[in-house]
Amino acid sequence: MTNPINDLSGLPQFSAIKPEHIQPAIEEAIAACKTKISDLLSQDNYSWDSLVAPIEEIDDELSRKWSPVSHMNSVVSNDALREAHDACLPALSEYGTWVGQNADLYNAYCQIEASSEFADLSEAQQKVITQAIRDFKLSGVALNEDKKARYAEVKSRLSDLGSTFSNNVMDATLGWQKHITDIAELAGLPESALGAAKQLAESKELDGWVFTLDIPSYLPVLTYADNRELREEMYRAYTTRASEQGPNAGKWDNTEIINETLTLRQELSKLLGFEHFAEYSLASKMANSSEQVNGFLLDLANRSKPQAQQDIDTLTSYAQEHFQAGELQAWDFAYYSEKLKEQTYKISDEQLRPYFPESTVVKGLFEVISRLYKLTVTEREGVDTWHKDVRFYDIKDESGELRGSFYLDLYAREKKRGGAWMDECQVRRQKLDSTQQYPVAYLTCNFSGPVGDKPALFTHDEVVTLFHEFGHGIHHMLTKINVGGVSGINGVAWDAVELPSQFLENWCWQPEALSFISGHYETGEPLPQTLLDNMLAARNFQSAMQMLRQLEFSIFDFSLHENFIDAEQTNVQAWLDQVREQVAVLTPPSFNRFQNSFGHIFAGGYAAGYYSYKWAEVLSSDAFSRFEEEGIFNQQTGQDFLHNILEMGGSKEPMELFVAFRGREPEVDALLRHSGIAA
Ligand SMILES: [Zn+2]
Repeated sequence: MTNPINDLSGLPQFSAIKPEHIQPAIEEAIAACKTKISDLLSQDNYSWDSLVAPIEEIDDELSRKWSPVSHMNSVVSNDALREAHDACLPALSEYGTWVGQNADLYNAYCQIEASSEFADLSEAQQKVITQAIRDFKLSGVALNEDKKARYAEVKSRLSDLGSTFSNNVMDATLGWQKHITDIAELAGLPESALGAAKQLAESKELDGWVFTLDIPSYLPVLTYADNRELREEMYRAYTTRASEQGPNAGKWDNTEIINETLTLRQELSKLLGFEHFAEYSLASKMANSSEQVNGFLLDLANRSKPQAQQDIDTLTSYAQEHFQAGELQAWDFAYYSEKLKEQTYKISDEQLRPYFPESTVVKGLFEVISRLYKLTVTEREGVDTWHKDVRFYDIKDESGELRGSFYLDLYAREKKRGGAWMDECQVRRQKLDSTQQYPVAYLTCNFSGPVGDKPALFTHDEVVTLFHEFGHGIHHMLTKINVGGVSGINGVAWDAVELPSQFLENWCWQPEALSFISGHYETGEPLPQTLLDNMLAARNFQSAMQMLRQLEFSIFDFSLHENFIDAEQTNVQAWLDQVREQVAVLTPPSFNRFQNSFGHIFAGGYAAGYYSYKWAEVLSSDAFSRFEEEGIFNQQTGQDFLHNILEMGGSKEPMELFVAFRGREPEVDALLRHSGIAA
């Protein structure tokens, strides 16, 4: 029996991968990596070619085998797959630690760094080596045996905790739904939301309408349903997922997982000689110190707060004046905000939706890329995928050379993790046999799918999200670096990684681009001038409030990791409350357990790093301001961004790349201006 995971001759064979293939393939691949590394270490002299390149090759094989498994676990999960996936985590964690704490390997890298060969290596190769040496230190290579063993235990447990956290959120999201049979209860909801809810009910062989906690189902209820009890009920279910509160209280509860995660992260940082986990996190980031991060966040918070307070006051008096609303509750904000936006700017998300049918938006996105970077994107038929809705595309440059490919999986569905993200299927690198491996990406979103015989019609928010993820995608795919460790997003400091993604969002707000990103799904007519004007005018509606919300999450994350002592002395909810008291203008109800589904920091890579979004937005806004000065489709500016940022991957420090593109260090003014916040 051949195992499809082991066939690396082409793209992954998703439809052939079964849960029983997973553990044998991954364990065998890990064993092969260990044997290879041990063999390589038996040489007397180490060089790039004799050590680093063959390690990269074997590690790449492991990555390419694990990638489809981890991806399928996120997008077409089932119990058997999840079990097989989770069963590999200890071995993967153990392998990571085995490499990271391998003193012989560390010494071999140091020997190469100190050798005369080092100066002759390319800048990318040098960065791979210095970065590896840094990571050995961060993995505790210098610790004594007892501490190394403890480090390994902690790492492995943290990996399990992250996975359980994610599983709980997915199960809690799936574990609640609202079935409604009386249309009178759904007054206010737009046609699109009703249609989707009806379709969902039919798929479950139910009458009426079914709503879930997936964003495309949940958000319209909060935004449009006149039925206040329904809004409250859904808000409560959503914001108490995976907690001890709400309709599924205690089921899938992440509270203890959060406490244990924080405790172990502190222990890990101390073990490595850091003051706290925030300091450990910064050791591999662009920001230099906790003071710098805290100062940055507080400064932005102080600048945004007065305007955010004004946003709230305006909303409250509007709701009271026009709707005799009493005191606004958390489940009222989206509802009255939408009404206020409609009245002020004569615009609603639903009005825009018919102008953003999937095919026009996707084609428009490719057109933007083509104008900016002279690239062509074409669909490739017949590629094996994990779901019938997934499509596959190739990107070629001006000279016709393949640069990369991607899977596009746009719609929300059950058993698919929420949110939107880009992930690597394989990276760009030159293989040992000198052939070129091209990068392949997964672009995953959770948008509203087609309803009935209408095509999928996106909200403008969804369009922005698509551009965001595609920005990550081209960072991964357009790299010209051929060393896997620093090609694409690899080796890019985490707080700079959101630069290309947030950067590309800007084109969703440019009339010149909107003229071809949009087109009515029946008539093809682009967004009418008035709608366009209104949409642009509404761009910064409540932007200070949104800015403050992001800052609240960032400060909560960073300060918690900086100050956490133990679960006794640091109560996470109390910490969050205190952060809110300091920076927020809105206090959510006491049952709200937002943190229990905050996967970015408890199950993703953003721990003590959520600030990265704002940090990188300074870079992306300032980078875009050069396009504002020189023309948003200025080809020279586009080429400069391509060559100085996108192609360079992690081969140089982000500040160096930014300065090469912008001609100076970043300034915060553009971000404030784009967000409509007075400097
Ligand atoms: Zn992103």
